[in-house]
Parts: sequence; C-alpha cells; structure tokens
Amino acid sequence: MDEARRWLRAARRVAVLTGAGISAESGIPTFRGQGGLWRQYRPEDLATPEAFDADPKLVWEWYNWRRSLIAKAQPNPGHRALAQLEERVPEFCLITQNVDGLHERAGSRMVVRLHGDIWTLRCTHCGLSCKNEDPELGELPPRCACGGLQRPGVVWFGENLPAECWQTAEKASRAAEVFLVVGTSAVVMPAAGLAAVAKNAGARVIEVNADDTPLSGWVDASLRGPAGKILPELLAA
Ligand code: NAD
Repeated sequence: MDEARRWLRAARRVAVLTGAGISAESGIPTFRGQGGLWRQYRPEDLATPEAFDADPKLVWEWYNWRRSLIAKAQPNPGHRALAQLEERVPEFCLITQNVDGLHERAGSRMVVRLHGDIWTLRCTHCGLSCKNEDPELGELPPRCACGGLQRPGVVWFGENLPAECWQTAEKASRAAEVFLVVGTSAVVMPAAGLAAVAKNAGARVIEVNADDTPLSGWVDASLRGPAGKILPELLAA
C-alpha cells in the first residue's frame, strides 16, 4: 500500500480502469459475483444480441430490474476517491466498463465509457438514440417513433466497442505512469487488455479488487479488499 501510494503521488499521468466491482458497495450486483443471477438467468446469457433477438421482452425485463436498482443507488467512497484523484493529477483518464453513471454522479469529469449507458435507448431500425431515465419502462419492449424496436444503448458480449472511446482509452493507457485497475474480473476483452497496454508502455499497474483475478500475478501491486475502503486509503493525501 505504501509503495503504491508513493507511485501515485509522484505520477503526472494516471489512467484508471473500473469494472462492476466498484459499484458493488452501492448495491448494484456485479455480473460474476454473488447476486449476479436474475431469475434463473446468468448475465452472460442475457447481455447478447442473440438473446435480444430471441426474446427482447425478457432482456428488457432484466434491464428494467437493473435500471430500478441503479436509480436507487448512490456513489460510494470508491467513486468519490477517484473523482478527487482527478483533481490532483495533471493528466487523468477514467475508463469504465460500467453503464451505471455513478462515476459522473460522484464528480468525475474525464470518463470514457467503453460499454455505453444504461439510460440510453437505441432504435434497432433507424439507429436513433435517446435518453430515458424512467427507472422502469412501461410497455416492453419499448418502440421508437419510427416503429422500430429499441434496445439498451450498451455494448453486449460479442459486440464492438465504440471506436472513438477505445482510441481514447488506449492512448491514455499507453501514456500513463500509473494504471489503476479497480473491481474488474479482467476477463472481458478487449477492456481487460488495457492493463497490459499500460504495463508494456512502462506504467506501474496497481490492482484493487475483493478477490484474485487473472491480473493479480503480474501487476506491480495487488491490493485486496473492497474498493470503497481501499481507494480512500490509497489516495489519502
Ligand atoms: P465482473 O462482474 O466480471 O467482475 C466484478 C469484479 O469485481 C470481480 O473481480 C470481483 O472480485 C470484484 N469485486 C466485487 N466486489 C468488489 C468490491 N466491493 N471492491 C472491489 N472489487 C470488487 O465485472 P466486470 O469485470 O466489470 O465485467 C462485467 C461486464 O458487466 C462489464 O462489461 C460491465 O459493463 C458490465 N456490468 C456493469 C455494471 C454496472 O454498470 N454497475 C454491473 C454489472 C455488470
């Protein structure tokens, strides 16, 4: 912890990759941990274009459940610590796989959302995107003004990441002197590969996670515990 703190204090360029684990203490279930199941379904079986094609109403019912949980959630000390870090680092980039918007609500400004936004709906017919922040949508599946079926504006398993976001994330990872990886199982590619991009370019990589991950063996520091406790300790001035 002490060494990791020193690296962070000295760094002028910092990039952070967060995953579902940082929002776990806000009451939002991760995909792979406890509480990931909804009814009898695994998230990996619902968050796919194939699942949506087969049963859009079922996938939307799952999203309605997730939207209602996220609407009730508040940013936790982990989100807030990262927002404060941004204030003191000259070049900072927060890359998130989360779709819940809690980083922005905690005050983070430079946020790259690799996997989209749960409050955005996109028409599968005309491509129009719109915001809808009703915690639970009424008639499911929702429809666009053009009559087309709307889908959640998120990136599902097997889909490409938005190119511009990816380029920004890769550039920030390559430039970083310190790269923090927080609350991600590090198995969802290509996002998980950003830690290797940073390390190969010379960054110190610090992992914060409640459990071991495939990254734990080769990062420069692996800090075990809940992000809401570890991040405020790590970033204490
Ligand atoms: P994941 O569910 O695969 O893994 C969660 C990780 O967080 C695990 O490694 C777990 O050990 C760790 N963790 C759990 N509680 C923690 C805590 N309190 N502090 C620190 N670490 C903790 O999540 P992922 O790697 O982000 O990949 C899953 C995909 O699911 C992502 O693409 C993401 O878009 C999506 N997702 C997003 C949300 C959200 O927006 N909140 C929630 C669930 C899933």
